[in-house]
Amino acid sequence: MARTTPAERFAAKTTPGPVPANLDTPCLLWPEGSLDRDGYGRFWVEGRVVPAHRWSYEQSRGPIPAGLELDHLCTVRRCVADDHLDAVDHRTNVLRSSGPSAINARRTRCTNDHDLTDPDNVRVSYPPSHPNGMRKCRACNRDRARRIREPQLAPVATLPTRTTPERTAA
Ligand SMILES: [Zn+2]
Ligand SMILES: [Zn+2]
Repeated sequence: MARTTPAERFAAKTTPGPVPANLDTPCLLWPEGSLDRDGYGRFWVEGRVVPAHRWSYEQSRGPIPAGLELDHLCTVRRCVADDHLDAVDHRTNVLRSSGPSAINARRTRCTNDHDLTDPDNVRVSYPPSHPNGMRKCRACNRDRARRIREPQLAPVATLPTRTTPERTAA
């Protein structure tokens, strides 16, 4: 049985897809049956499984610089077209994606129409659920604190006011 090279096996696995609106060349699709849990192509090469798009990129454009990840410019995860991939840092990848955190990160107004581009109004925290940071609107926090405080003050205000006991005439 003739041995095929990884490049030959790679080529045999892919089929051209549509041309994305933002690009000039068609996607190169990895078969549905060979995807990982996240929807990226899995390619068996030199005794191990590698992400097919990373393999594709490294074959034609060289090693992916340390610390960078590949962003699919076409947003098609199972696409392995090397010219649809861009090596970027994690934050850029998140900001470019269409996930909820990316949409939030791009918003310039909060739900109450406060300015989120004003650094004085924005507090960034890094809870475990948002390792890349989440923005909190200070104006909203102030409003919320006021709403919480007011109902608590109300009962205090209705307490019978202390009156100085009437001085009984001696
Ligand atoms: Zn593509
Ligand atoms: Zn706000």
